[in-house]
Amino acid sequence: MSSYRIGIAFFYHESHSFSPLKTEIEHFVQEGYFVGTEIYKAYSGTKTEVGGFLDVLKQVEIVPLVCAAAVPSGIVSSEAYHIIEKQMLHSLTHAGPLDGLLIALHGAMVVEHLFDPEAHLLSQIRSCIGSDVPIATTLDMHANISEDMLTYTPLHFGFKTYPHVDMYEQGVNAARALLTQVKESAIYYASFKKMPMLLPSINMRTAEGPMKKMIDLAKQAEQEADVYNVSIFGGFPYSDIPIAGASVLVTALNPETAEKTAKKLASQFWSIKEEFIVDLPTVEEGLQTALKRSSEQPIVLADIADNPLSCGSGDTTELLEYMLKLNMPGTLFGGLYDPESIKQCVQAGVGNYVSLSLGGKVSPEFGKPVEVEAKVIGLSEGEFYNSGPFNQHLKVNVKGAAHIRVGELDILLIGRPVSANDPELFRHIGIEPETKKIIGLKAKNHFRAAFEPLVGSIIYVDAPGVASNRLTTFKYQHIPKPIWPLQDVKYESEKRRKEKWMH
Ligand SMILES: [Zn+2]
Repeated sequence: MSSYRIGIAFFYHESHSFSPLKTEIEHFVQEGYFVGTEIYKAYSGTKTEVGGFLDVLKQVEIVPLVCAAAVPSGIVSSEAYHIIEKQMLHSLTHAGPLDGLLIALHGAMVVEHLFDPEAHLLSQIRSCIGSDVPIATTLDMHANISEDMLTYTPLHFGFKTYPHVDMYEQGVNAARALLTQVKESAIYYASFKKMPMLLPSINMRTAEGPMKKMIDLAKQAEQEADVYNVSIFGGFPYSDIPIAGASVLVTALNPETAEKTAKKLASQFWSIKEEFIVDLPTVEEGLQTALKRSSEQPIVLADIADNPLSCGSGDTTELLEYMLKLNMPGTLFGGLYDPESIKQCVQAGVGNYVSLSLGGKVSPEFGKPVEVEAKVIGLSEGEFYNSGPFNQHLKVNVKGAAHIRVGELDILLIGRPVSANDPELFRHIGIEPETKKIIGLKAKNHFRAAFEPLVGSIIYVDAPGVASNRLTTFKYQHIPKPIWPLQDVKYESEKRRKEKWMH
């Protein structure tokens, strides 16, 4: 083992400024909050960024610091952020001298009174470890990046896939880059272009469409001499902050190459912006389409506006109501976040009937609870391991689950808002989604990684919800203006907007 000592950390949240659910410390604790050696048990062998860090760092001394992640939700409370930041700085202070630091960030966190928490965190880390220790980060494709981030390190590795199945790979890339810098003291230069465009993420998949074009261009650019890494950030349009929006980040071995490449990619990104905008069918239109389509495999209706991984409450009821009315054999809906109903199911017991008021509790403005008489088919603690490629092997705990049947519709209730991104969500309680005809899911794009091989087709529906594709429904206050497509705007690549980081 070499004598290098590398710190690893993870601080991850995607924050929706318009979600009513503030993210508190208990949300991090529920999802994942690990200090020191606890990190090994949680992430060793997982296809996550930290899993990638751990695999690359086998030959050096790893110093595990803090890993904190919560499900995307409303903005993070100032208290929660500062507890985690304090723990991070405390761990760093007691870690002894480090040769490098790897940190997995999301890049779309918003904290009360803090618009750019990732840059703030990096500044605090720098004041703790000094300016000479190399730092490398991984970032989500939906990060709202600021130029400020680059003042702390030029080494940032954005995901290149959506569904994000390259988290592990980018963790590996960041770790390798960091080790190279630690060993060889290479100097990297980053060039960053922020564009005044706020893009819905629905059409950002990297299998096809405009984001595929951008990622292909990024990979081509990485083949050019001196270009080290290119990240394309679609941004997260539900963060109402001055740094919201799409951007391009190029890291190169000389500043001219970084600047030239970033400029070119930014102008290409801007030129295809219209392709990111799509109109979706209503729930009724989506269901009609599903009924007309003949398919051996199930047809999925994805309720994207209530996707918990886009900060949906997971309990809106419009699609559920339509599927109940349809009352067709071979239909499945889930997972609906409803701990109260699960409790009633547990009291009633398997095989018995119970009156339930389903969903509509967190966000009644998007659909009232639905009164039903349900048969309890199965109950579980809600723990399983992902089997699909997205966050593979990661343990998921949905805090209890109930499989109920109302008429012909099978419904999965879960005790925590979790996107239906992995079939084990259903299988762990005895439901096989593959055998169904029509499935209504609280999901958007990540679920495709595991579900596409099982299903015939996928229809996105436009139900009401906090993660609606229609950005004009949100009352923005802090985003840069003008911004496309909310206002018509001419992009000037050299324009530098002076941005405020704090309220
Ligand atoms: Zn993302």
